[in-house]
Amino acid sequence: MSFIDNLKRTGKNIAQKTSDVVEIQKLNLAISQEKEKVKKIYSQVGEEVYRQFILGNDLGFSDKCSEIAGYEAKIEELQNKIMNLKNTKKCGGCGAEISDDAAFCPKCGTKASS
Ligand SMILES: [Zn+2]
Repeated sequence: MSFIDNLKRTGKNIAQKTSDVVEIQKLNLAISQEKEKVKKIYSQVGEEVYRQFILGNDLGFSDKCSEIAGYEAKIEELQNKIMNLKNTKKCGGCGAEISDDAAFCPKCGTKASS
C-alpha cells in the first residue's frame, strides 16, 4: 500500500472515530434523559408512599417514612427560626407567612393566634 493510500485510510479512520465519539455522546445523553424520567417517577412513587403513610396507610416503608417525617419536622423548625428572625408567623388557616402583629391573615382571613 502506498504512503498516500495509507494516509487516506488513516484520515478516514480518524473521521469515523470522531463521528463514533459524537454518536456515543448523543447516545449517553439520551440515556441520561431516560434515567432522569425514571428518577422523576421514583420520586413521585416515593411521595405517594409518604402521603399514604401520613394518611395512616402503611405501604411497607414505615421506617423510611418516619425518617422523612423527622426531616420534615426539622425543616419546619428551621423555617420557624427564620420567621422569628423576620417577625412573621405562619397562618393556622392557610399556612401563609404573615406579620407577627397581624390580627387576621390577609390571604384567608383566619384570626391569627398571638
Ligand atoms: Zn391564611
